[in-house]
Amino acid sequence: MRLRNIPGSRELIAESEYVIQTPEAQKGKWHEIFQNTYPLHLEIGMGKGRFLTTLSTKYPKINYLGIEKYSSVLVRAIEKRAEHPEISNLYFLRYDAEYICDLFAPGEVERIYLNFSDPWPKDRHAKRRLTSKEYLARYDRILSSNGWIEFKTDNLSLFEFSLDQIEQFGWEALDVTYDLHNSPFRSENVMTEYEERFLALGNSIYRLTARRKNV
Ligand code: SAM
Repeated sequence: MRLRNIPGSRELIAESEYVIQTPEAQKGKWHEIFQNTYPLHLEIGMGKGRFLTTLSTKYPKINYLGIEKYSSVLVRAIEKRAEHPEISNLYFLRYDAEYICDLFAPGEVERIYLNFSDPWPKDRHAKRRLTSKEYLARYDRILSSNGWIEFKTDNLSLFEFSLDQIEQFGWEALDVTYDLHNSPFRSENVMTEYEERFLALGNSIYRLTARRKNV
């Protein structure tokens, strides 16, 4: 993603009612923020937030957190979120997902969405890919017993890398499609900003879910 430094973005984030400012303090008690015990779903690398804004409107009995590393991107999501003050089940965090285990107690999360994650094409950066074994180990710590991840991308090498990492980690990939928009999964699909852009270019969208075996 091309990042522009947006003047004042840090201040805007610090003052936003939609951003949890000290997320580590909520570890094991995210239900207090939402004031209910509905399932907790995350999007890591949420970008400008369209996906979660749509989902949180569609499913009011699920709690959503969007995690984004960069302030300049997060401010765009805050702007979009502000257009929907009626939503009460969506908050954002400015955080590096590498440290996600500092935010959630074991089993606290039911689902993790990874949409069009950065590919990190150089081999030496493979550990930074959000579907690497290193990240799967982090998700394994925080996901509930029947929790799962959902991953979408238009990058075939990243998709095949992800399938390989899931197998090496001892999880199983399910609902795998190499053409999401011509598959049965299309009807329940919620588009992201990147997905719309890549579809317009004629790219295929690859999609999988992954979870522990035998759940
Ligand atoms: N999910 C959005 C979509 O599909 O439109 C945005 C996709 S964009 C290519 C990837 C996003 O992930 C960027 O906004 C980037 O800043 C964020 N990101 C990358 N690594 C991250 C990390 N370790 N923790 C949190 N966010 C991250």
